Amino acid sequence: MQPALRTPVFFIPGRTSAEQIAYAPLRRLAFSVNSAGEKILRALAGANGGLDAGLRQKPFLEAVERMGLLEELPDAPPGVAESTGGAYQPTTVTLFLTGNCNLHCSYCYARGGDTDSVMPWETAKAALDFVIDNAIATNSLKITVIFHGDGEPTLAWPILTKCIEYAERRCLEEDLACDFEAGMNGIIAEKRLRWLAPKLRNITVSLDGPPDIQDAQRPLSSPGGHERADSLIKGEGMEDERNSSSRIVERSLRILDELGVSYGIRCTITRRSAGRIPEVVEYLCKVSQTADLMLEPSFPEGRAIETDEREVDPAMFVDGFLQGRLIARQHGRRLKYAGARADQITNRFCEAVSGAFNVTQDGRVTSCYEVFAKDDPRIHHFDIGALDPATGRFGVNMDTIRAAAQWTAAEKAPCQGCFARYHCAGDCAAKLSATGDPKDTVNRNRCFVIRELTRAQIFSLYGFGDVTEPSTGWIPQDSPMPSTKLVQIRMA
Ligand code: SF4
Ligand code: SF4
Repeated sequence: MQPALRTPVFFIPGRTSAEQIAYAPLRRLAFSVNSAGEKILRALAGANGGLDAGLRQKPFLEAVERMGLLEELPDAPPGVAESTGGAYQPTTVTLFLTGNCNLHCSYCYARGGDTDSVMPWETAKAALDFVIDNAIATNSLKITVIFHGDGEPTLAWPILTKCIEYAERRCLEEDLACDFEAGMNGIIAEKRLRWLAPKLRNITVSLDGPPDIQDAQRPLSSPGGHERADSLIKGEGMEDERNSSSRIVERSLRILDELGVSYGIRCTITRRSAGRIPEVVEYLCKVSQTADLMLEPSFPEGRAIETDEREVDPAMFVDGFLQGRLIARQHGRRLKYAGARADQITNRFCEAVSGAFNVTQDGRVTSCYEVFAKDDPRIHHFDIGALDPATGRFGVNMDTIRAAAQWTAAEKAPCQGCFARYHCAGDCAAKLSATGDPKDTVNRNRCFVIRELTRAQIFSLYGFGDVTEPSTGWIPQDSPMPSTKLVQIRMA
């Protein structure tokens, strides 16, 4: 019988034009091949009509066999559709506690600070009860409560603390563990931070770089923002810094480091900072001891459209990221990008594909962190349910949830030949739905970034050295997808 590959193998441009990296993500294998090796692997996949006598190179075939590539193994990650077929019983809730914010970021997707609405306690309580009941019904050991946008959650202090105290008490009664997480902007009174931080399993703090960048992009200029910041830092000897969000965030990071809690920094790169990424990374390493630095390019949505904060040049972002990655490593840190995660095998970019339980101030359920406003043209993809005020129970639309299971790389035609498909898993549905239906859309600029950064990670993970510049063959063209040398070798 003809030997045949039993797992997908992809080819990634190697260190020289003569080298390809054969990559079998589901077997955690990557190895260097020349054109002859590539030809044999393609033949083993049946892509070239099978092995002919001229290709029967025994030592190479034996090596492929030793690596297990000819062996059938159940190695694919579970499909999303399978996990969205049953009842809707999430045990994680994200509460969008308030639209209020003390910053006025130029690119804010949520237009934080444009409202001061706060979630009513009845809504928060119903959401907490829902996940606790689900945990009991499914014999889960814990619930997770995440405090997130669409404004700055710590500004809704009374409800935030009430949620923590209520969830802790109920979980104690029900013998459940309770994890809390939060995304915050770092503009918070020291006393509050010292109370809150130790309660959180993980924290994400936003900081965009050195003061001239941070203060321009994330100014303390929400309507009433100065006053609120003033009152938050009163008595801390920082009154002279009240116009500078960067100085207050730096102080918050020092407190988090002193407390020894787990946190990461989220840094948004705009056109203003895209040419200064190495400097931005140096700065973040100087003002914080966190291991995790997350860089994301800004995206033209929300306030970014009004402020004309246009898309960052993807090649410039990749170039800066690759340099910043090495700087971060010198400091013992990790530079991350959400779509590039070669260390993970997954079928989902995020939990939006399986109906994440994110609750808005008015009691609606959106599966996406970024798309929640009723007038967002993308909301029909993510609007999965609502609190029924009459019963105090949440109801969801399972058809909308099931439809999202198609947003994955496993389902999308353009992703089939992409080596990043088991890592990226089809990209962010919110970004894709800005231009099309996330079930069959990809964004060539984002794919370029994802693939370049994933390639750099694969090189590091599998010992091929550091990637210091983008692979020129993939610069985005005016085509639906980046021009690429990648070819998927399908399973026989
Ligand atoms: S779809 Fe995109 S923006 Fe929405 S939660 Fe997922 S990753 Fe975040
Ligand atoms: S084609 Fe684009 S969206 Fe699809 S897996 Fe590859 S990088 Fe991700």
